[in-house]
Amino acid sequence: MEPRHAVLFEPLRIGPKVLPNRFYQVPHASGFGVLEPRTQAAFRAIKAEGGWGGVCIEYTAIAEDSEESPAVSGVLWDDEDAAALAVTVDAVHAHGALVGLELFHGGSRSENGKSRAVRVTPSQATSEVQWAGLAKEMELDDIRRLQRAWVEAAVRARDVGVDIVYVYGAHGYLLTEFFSSVLNQRRDAYGGPLANRGRFWLETLEAVRGAVGAECAVATRIPVHGGEGLPGIETEEMLRLIEMGSDLVDLFDVNVGTWPEDSGTSRYYEEGHQRTWTDQVHQATPKPVVGVGRYTSPDLMAEIVRTGALDVIGAARPAIADPFLPRKVAEGRLDEIRECTGSNVCIAREESLNHVGCIQNATAGEEYRRGWHPELFTRAANADKSVLVVGGGPAGMECAVVLGKRGFSAVHLVEARPRLGGRVEWVRRLPTLGDWGRIVDWRLVQLDKLANVEVICGRRLAASSILEYGAEIVILATGSSWRGDGVQPEARPAIAGADASLAHVLTPEQVMLEGKRAAAGRVVVYDADGYIVGPGIAELLAGEGSEVHLVTSFTVVSPGSDATLEGERLRRHLHDRGVRQHRGVTVLRLDETGVEGEDEFARPWSLECASVVLVTQQQSNDALYHELADDELLASAGIERLFRVGDAVAPRPISEAIFDGHRLGREIDAEDPGQRLVYLRERTQLG
Ligand code: ADP
Repeated sequence: MEPRHAVLFEPLRIGPKVLPNRFYQVPHASGFGVLEPRTQAAFRAIKAEGGWGGVCIEYTAIAEDSEESPAVSGVLWDDEDAAALAVTVDAVHAHGALVGLELFHGGSRSENGKSRAVRVTPSQATSEVQWAGLAKEMELDDIRRLQRAWVEAAVRARDVGVDIVYVYGAHGYLLTEFFSSVLNQRRDAYGGPLANRGRFWLETLEAVRGAVGAECAVATRIPVHGGEGLPGIETEEMLRLIEMGSDLVDLFDVNVGTWPEDSGTSRYYEEGHQRTWTDQVHQATPKPVVGVGRYTSPDLMAEIVRTGALDVIGAARPAIADPFLPRKVAEGRLDEIRECTGSNVCIAREESLNHVGCIQNATAGEEYRRGWHPELFTRAANADKSVLVVGGGPAGMECAVVLGKRGFSAVHLVEARPRLGGRVEWVRRLPTLGDWGRIVDWRLVQLDKLANVEVICGRRLAASSILEYGAEIVILATGSSWRGDGVQPEARPAIAGADASLAHVLTPEQVMLEGKRAAAGRVVVYDADGYIVGPGIAELLAGEGSEVHLVTSFTVVSPGSDATLEGERLRRHLHDRGVRQHRGVTVLRLDETGVEGEDEFARPWSLECASVVLVTQQQSNDALYHELADDELLASAGIERLFRVGDAVAPRPISEAIFDGHRLGREIDAEDPGQRLVYLRERTQLG
């Protein structure tokens, strides 16, 4: 270990418990709740094994009127929920970490779709789920009922061995609604002056502490800066509140704003972006403080703890990207830390698919159901075979890394371009997307360390050279390319006049890899893809001085960025950079004078421009595969197996291409590696 990082490994007393070090996986959702207890347990336990001294579970509702469907939260309403929770507690304890549980109530933000319970809130105000009806203003009975529910849940948590029990109030949940001078308009003892707005929290803390405080540490999470999303939350007031609650709390877990700001993506938020506010908390309390900020740099973490700004480094996303981050710091293996890219793919997956995943770590969420360990790889039964991986994009790189770790004697990774990275090599050069380069950087370090994997760049392999190569297993990871012919998704007609061999029509790859630019004049970027590439190219060209119009077929610009919590910020950012935005437009024709199409109401729409960048649709580079996929041909060349991975199969998000490459590497010695092995599913037991 680097001596300067030793401070991160000092134990810390929090109430009746001792945190073994300063690495703390803060509560974060996974989509597993108590419905998939073994999946949940393995997902959390791997972090404990990787050295996180505290491992929290996820938002766990104390009452039926805080229900999250269609999302899956934890719930702790009865003994059966507690029994499911216990599976995770035991699994985390087996590695010596403390377990924290985020007991929360969502207030007016609760969905209650399944429970059909009336939502409750301090004052009958609007909320983000207002279309589902307004919430009921809490009466004294409701206040007492929820405080009892909090205590009952805390007792259940204690009884199954939870070490740190939360009275959780961040993200605009019920407690924040009480704190807010805007959302809380009550005229009774729970509204008005700060002491009143904090009363529900203080009373709940006192009750929970009274019930479990001797055996459990009592933690709270509250925002110390409202930002744009939390009206009526002022730092000065929150610090006074912390002072008032100091004696009741063993660990202050502090953050800022609503989720998009708290989990700000790397596009718009730097590592440590919350420090302006979280560094002030120790002015108000001597109690231990944990804070987050997508920390991946051990030097910065150590400095924060050494200077006393925070006592504990909190992390959700960095712990998903690298469950073994603390162990790697402890062992001085700093170059092996798989740094979070801040893409928020984890959040998009967990929120919309109820199954967390990670763009960097293909094993995240797969620990139980596929038995994948992020750091352990078994030797493949066919490791004596020679392997050729064609294409060094994310899928090919990942596959080569896994095969290397599985002990193959000779793996060659051959890439046509001068450098590895595939599409990430240019995506990382789009404005705001620099941290996505970590996808390539981590894999480069791994490949460098694997003596059995040889990387050859600058060589484009034709079918004939693959047949002559001498490899027994060939894996094609040849990726995909953006179409230049105007074919677009959703059965819209192809764009007449679209042809990227013409000077005024461009594809993203032509812009980024060939430096193709059209003659001066207005540029239209037509985005029928809806995620990072259209806005990225638009901002890039605007930065070069062009008048850029981003025209999208979607009703919002980049709906994919809403799933990663950055859509609003992105649209404002583009606006500030001078990119004009047109929504709901389908382009149908183009030429060197402009584009024509129709708007969402089928009215004609047109815009004069000198050039068009087509971000319409990708297509697999699968010609090589079809040339080679002939059993006799392969046999005559001594090739025993031919596989495809990543975008060469079907163009997909980078996370899925990496998953695909990883999957093939893990299952390369299965009976038929071309077919995914069946994964374990957790089901409700009948009877
Ligand atoms: P994926 O995300 O599936 O990895 P990418 O498109 O990002 O796909 O990467 C594919 C990579 O394969 C690119 O870097 C491309 O240059 C490379 N490639 C494609 N065809 C060949 C080939 N015939 N020989 C070597 N490299 C190739």
